[in-house]
Amino acid sequence: MSQETIFTKIINREIPADIIYEDELTLAFKDINPQAPLHCLIIPKQPIATINDITEDKRELVGHLYVVAAKIAKQQGVADDGYRVVMNCNEHGGQSVYHIHLHMLAGKPLGWPPY
Ligand code: 5GP
Repeated sequence: MSQETIFTKIINREIPADIIYEDELTLAFKDINPQAPLHCLIIPKQPIATINDITEDKRELVGHLYVVAAKIAKQQGVADDGYRVVMNCNEHGGQSVYHIHLHMLAGKPLGWPPY
């Protein structure tokens, strides 16, 4: 299952976003409703609806999202203080956009557990 979402429009520059990183496989941009001083979303350009749709052939792509997270943490100056990277899945996980994305939250001490 992979349908076009608002994130496809961001990838295609059909709607604006504050893009902070791009390579051939991924795009990262600031969340429109930030929950921390730094809140960005790291997405594959290839649309994958949910974690449930990640198959073996997507292994490298999904791993690459974390490589990008580490790069962005350094680029944004939050690597040493720390940050959280999380991916929500479906309704109970709080997913609202059905194109997988890592949330990167940083810039303050974050609470845990997240409820
Ligand atoms: P989810 O709820 O699926 O885990 O996360 C989706 C995230 O996308 C939310 O944090 C929401 O604020 C963000 N978001 C939704 N629409 C847009 C948009 O048009 N632009 C940007 N930059 N972020 C968006």
